[in-house]
Amino acid sequence: MRFLLLTFLLSVAVLAGAQNLRSGGRLKTEQAIMDIRHYSVTLDVDPVKEFIAGSTEIRLVLVTRAPELILDLWHEMTVSQVWVNGAKESFVQTPDDLLKIRGVIPFEKGKVHIKVAYSGKPGVAERPPWVGGFQWSKDSKGNPWIAISCQGEGAKIYFPCKDHPSDEPDEGADLIISVPTGLTVAGPGLLKKVTHEKTTDTFHWSTAYTINNYCIVFNVGKYQKVSRPYTTVAGHSVPMDFYVLEEHAGQGPHLLELLERSCRVLENYFGEYPWVKEKIGVAETPHLGMEHQTLIAYGNKFNYVKLGGQDFDWLLHHEFGHEWWGNKVTGKDWAHMWIQEGICSFGDALMTREMEGEPAYLKRMQQTALHIANTKPIVQGEEVDTDETYQGFMHTLRFVTGDNVFFPALKQLATGSHYTYDSLVTTDDVERLFSKASKKPLKPLFDLYLRSTQKVDFNVKQLSDTTYTIKLVNLDGPLPVQISTPLGTRTEQVTNKGISVTSHGWPLVDPNVYYFKKVTLE
Ligand SMILES: [Zn+2]
Repeated sequence: MRFLLLTFLLSVAVLAGAQNLRSGGRLKTEQAIMDIRHYSVTLDVDPVKEFIAGSTEIRLVLVTRAPELILDLWHEMTVSQVWVNGAKESFVQTPDDLLKIRGVIPFEKGKVHIKVAYSGKPGVAERPPWVGGFQWSKDSKGNPWIAISCQGEGAKIYFPCKDHPSDEPDEGADLIISVPTGLTVAGPGLLKKVTHEKTTDTFHWSTAYTINNYCIVFNVGKYQKVSRPYTTVAGHSVPMDFYVLEEHAGQGPHLLELLERSCRVLENYFGEYPWVKEKIGVAETPHLGMEHQTLIAYGNKFNYVKLGGQDFDWLLHHEFGHEWWGNKVTGKDWAHMWIQEGICSFGDALMTREMEGEPAYLKRMQQTALHIANTKPIVQGEEVDTDETYQGFMHTLRFVTGDNVFFPALKQLATGSHYTYDSLVTTDDVERLFSKASKKPLKPLFDLYLRSTQKVDFNVKQLSDTTYTIKLVNLDGPLPVQISTPLGTRTEQVTNKGISVTSHGWPLVDPNVYYFKKVTLE
């Protein structure tokens, strides 16, 4: 989520949740020594009382001996008991949303198993998905319809965890969720088992993949599962499953056709769908959408537009694009959010390129450039938990490096083991990758675009009736720049020394808007 293009860019400012919770930020010393291996969340969900009760089990590895273990959990959740390696331990919950577990003797380094029993009314989402939490909604027939969104707040809004983007559970997560009979729980990964009891049904979902903590969520509704088989670009069979409200089940098959079209295009640019051992999943939600791994949240109400003469759902495509950018390729902290959000949005533009061709893509990018208000640097340094993102930088990067370098490098970023799954990425990783691939030092361009609020600054100076110089003011260059004169448009390598241009009339710099720029005429 966190989008989109023009109107939705505002949403990035809203990382703080209803409860003023934030994930990420400075990693606590006590948590830096923990390597989370697995979460298992077992909960009874009561839609009437809007209440949850159960336990969370955490398997982790302690890198050093520690007198205290610290987890994150929203303080409104009430912990009743904590066990460490099977033994009851004392604990304290603090108003700043920490659960501190103190051992009778220090906890030894190595494998640790924590179990926390707790209950409470989880935080209610004020403006899902941007200000998240639980959303206790109902479908038009009055059936409970529950969604969780916590990208900004983090999963601590409903279960104890190490709430930091730098540590995903290496062995995945299990969700064992009980709901009143008749409702269905949809979750990440595979459905292992459904257990029926007198008045409740329990759904056991399990993913073996690493997963962002804000994707460890479930959805509840009067769902019907609509499926479509899919074979990936690498030949793996993986089901497409859509958990759609029963009342909208008729819309399911067509939505999956659209999803397949999106998937083919995304695989073409970014490589195979990342979670082939599990599923391609979508759950219908009462909020607009979120990129929950193997079960993206979809709430765009089947509002399609035409793209290349075919039905297209921009929200579905965008959230699904996050399976590559955000879920498979994940920034080490929110400071690097532009990687997942910016490239995912660039993937939206590539869909336009695929369906309607390069001119339509260019037009879209030009419109984007005109609307961007570049008021804050995108990367604000490590350990910063808000930022602004956009796709225009990728468009510039494509122009600067050329398609023969750009597209393979982009695919490498989406597929290389250094950048994917449990290897988290930073802005420097991306800069080094593209610099190496293009054999150009791109750091100045990355710094200008991502670490400053400046635009590329061009100066055009008239020397005589028909002679001009064009130079870069705030970069050394050379940068490839299109120059238009009455004789036509050609690409020149412009530097801070300036190049000479002959033209009857002022030459136009970058007429096709490959750069966010400022041009001064002198
Ligand atoms: Zn997004």
